[in-house]
Amino acid sequence: MPVRDSLEYYIRLFANLRTDKSANRWPDRVRNRAPQKPILLLAVLDLLELNEIDSNLIEITEDLLDLFDKYWLEVLPFTRPSTLAMPFVRMESEGFWHLARRKEGEPLFGRPERSVAQLQERVFGAYLDEALYEHLRVETNRSILRSVLAGERYFSNEASKVLLQQGFVNREAFIYSEKLLKNPGDLTIRDTLPLEEEYLPVRGQGFRRAVVTAYSHRCALCGIRVRTLDGHTAVTAAHIVPWSETQDDRPANGMALCRMCHWTFDEGLLGVSQVYEVIASRQLNTLDNLPGYLTNLEGRGIVGPDRKPLWPDTESLQWHRENVLRTQ
Ligand SMILES: [Zn+2]
Repeated sequence: MPVRDSLEYYIRLFANLRTDKSANRWPDRVRNRAPQKPILLLAVLDLLELNEIDSNLIEITEDLLDLFDKYWLEVLPFTRPSTLAMPFVRMESEGFWHLARRKEGEPLFGRPERSVAQLQERVFGAYLDEALYEHLRVETNRSILRSVLAGERYFSNEASKVLLQQGFVNREAFIYSEKLLKNPGDLTIRDTLPLEEEYLPVRGQGFRRAVVTAYSHRCALCGIRVRTLDGHTAVTAAHIVPWSETQDDRPANGMALCRMCHWTFDEGLLGVSQVYEVIASRQLNTLDNLPGYLTNLEGRGIVGPDRKPLWPDTESLQWHRENVLRTQ
């Protein structure tokens, strides 16, 4: 066994995480093992990379939840919904991960697979062995540990490639979305990313984070805000003028919309007026349609971001009314 607290010591621990093993429960692409722990640590590495963790305390932030989910969906898209709560608690048995409890000595739950919301009631976050935290501040160490976590020990070759690619997207998308939020009116932000195809997911994920953050997970048209106790959100980020037309990723060319409103907006059944009121196409009320609450939105003000510069710009909305909204 390598010397305690050395990098080699932690490489060994990362390569030997205690995980559930079962060919019935877990497919080949995760080597028939529960992938939650390596995925959680990959998300933590991303946040360290981005300086979003700048002290030895890993908090349960929206970004941590989001990055965890992004990896999860890449390796186990249809198997089951993820929850960060489970690995976050169980990691404590690995010896290098220590929960920061709100009340010292308080037991967590009988079964750790509870929700993130319940977890947050009981813990602030987790801190690492001080020696491990120091190792992780060095980029080359992070990339060594990343290759262990995303490597053949826990994932098939194909899944491993996908995870490493997703790590790249996570980090680049985060940086892109921060730029979009800081300079909401600046169309040249899009030019800070190369045009190559591999950057398309970076743009998509970065735009989504910027818009969903700007609207605090609320649908601009119907106003609903639904999140699961694990932080999964009902809203998506819609481009007002489609990306294919202008490649305009400014938050002002976007709105956070629930899935129903996103579809109706893209289909031209709903639009937004020059004074930010919802316009409903007459087609909503034709044939066998039973549009329910959608028709009640007509004339109501949209629910915009707190910051005025992040609101949809009127030219984009006009383009949508002229080119997409069905007036008949
Ligand atoms: Zn909606």
